[in-house]
Amino acid sequence: MSRPFYITTTLPYVNDKPHVGHALEFVQADALARSRRLRDDEVFFNTGTDEHGQKIYDKAVKEGRDVKEYVDFYAERFTALKEKLNLSYDAFIRTTDEKHIQAAQEIWKRCEAAGDIYKKNYKTKYCVGCELEKTDSELVEGKCPIHLNLELQIVDEENYFFKLSKYKDALLAYLAGDVVTPLARKNDAINFVNGDGFQDFSISRLKEKMSWGIPVPGDESQVMYVWFDALTNYISTLDWPNESADSNFTKYWMNGETLQVAGKDQVRMQSIMWQAMLLSANVPPTQHVFYHGFITSGGQKMSKSLGNVLDPFDYAEEFGIDAVRYFFLRHVHPFEDSDFTRERFVESYNAGLANGLGNLASRVMKMAEEHLTEPVVVAEKEDFTDYFALLDAFKFNEASDLIWQKIAECDALIQESQPFKVVKDDAEKGRALIADLAVRLYTIGRMLNPLMPSTSQIIKDAVKANKKPENMFSRREA
Ligand SMILES: [Zn+2]
Repeated sequence: MSRPFYITTTLPYVNDKPHVGHALEFVQADALARSRRLRDDEVFFNTGTDEHGQKIYDKAVKEGRDVKEYVDFYAERFTALKEKLNLSYDAFIRTTDEKHIQAAQEIWKRCEAAGDIYKKNYKTKYCVGCELEKTDSELVEGKCPIHLNLELQIVDEENYFFKLSKYKDALLAYLAGDVVTPLARKNDAINFVNGDGFQDFSISRLKEKMSWGIPVPGDESQVMYVWFDALTNYISTLDWPNESADSNFTKYWMNGETLQVAGKDQVRMQSIMWQAMLLSANVPPTQHVFYHGFITSGGQKMSKSLGNVLDPFDYAEEFGIDAVRYFFLRHVHPFEDSDFTRERFVESYNAGLANGLGNLASRVMKMAEEHLTEPVVVAEKEDFTDYFALLDAFKFNEASDLIWQKIAECDALIQESQPFKVVKDDAEKGRALIADLAVRLYTIGRMLNPLMPSTSQIIKDAVKANKKPENMFSRREA
């Protein structure tokens, strides 16, 4: 058993229903959390929803809805994912929760006490899509390259600023460590700190223009900028500023191992803004951030106008939750963009699950049920050193491959030793071969736990009961 393990996703912004990127991030984080629990580590797995900001405010107003009622509606779409993707998170923090609001105000006060917050009149271009200020060098033909359909807002007011520039050296020292995976994102972070965009940023808005935010401590006329508020969730979920010896904050953030999972477009927020805020508030920075790639469809970003949007939750209903988890973990590259199409999904489902895992489980357990008089003796603890090392390195695809190598080995053993024939001539020898296969299948079941928790349980139960499981993955047409 090692140190307590803290893991968090980024918080989805609740201006829409969950999409494929959320599903990927949640499943990856869930697999990591489960793989630690399998090793008896104490785990705190956080997720939640980011509920303030201009974009949400504008959308609620446009739809004529009360803003709180609007965010409640969408937050529920995200809490429902626990069941829809079989997630094992321990906490679901909403940035409208009272304890979060208090933590966001406390971190503001600490940054202010450190001399890192000041007020200034300024004028800037602001992308509501990103909820970020944009410098001219970041624009393409005067627009945000990620949100070409949105007009940039001009913010012209007196706001509070955070002294990001003060943390240049400290951030470069932090980023020099083993704190970011993959290397390409680490380089993005270092380049950002060394570039033009690395400037003090505004952390408040005039309340009369945008009231949907956490009040700035000591200034009724301003509310906090959404990112300054939302990033604090990673410690508000641990009840910070409660820093007592028996607090979750002390246990997981101060004395544990801390890991954030985020999309590859999040480097500026997660590895720079947030880490500088922590440094300013005198809280240790996050030990590691893993940035995953994006999911495309037909080689392009999914978009309603292209008509290539695939809903992972429809696939979970049609093929089963574990089939979706399998695809995301084995057939989506952890760091680079990957394509999700129906053809690719069905092809990998048939090869890996229907013909691979499902077929092996039913063949082995059919023989076991027929020829063994009692269940095989199985070891509950096994040493999966290589497998866990790959998961700890976020190589979900390669970790999965280790399991499918074992499946292939079992298939080859059946092919070569033909236990179903041997058992007719030499019962003892045949039974020994079948028992060996059942033990191997149990190991496969155990290894599947972080990736495909229900399937793992079904296989383990079948071996322990010496009974052929129901058909798990029937073959599908594309
Ligand atoms: Zn944008």
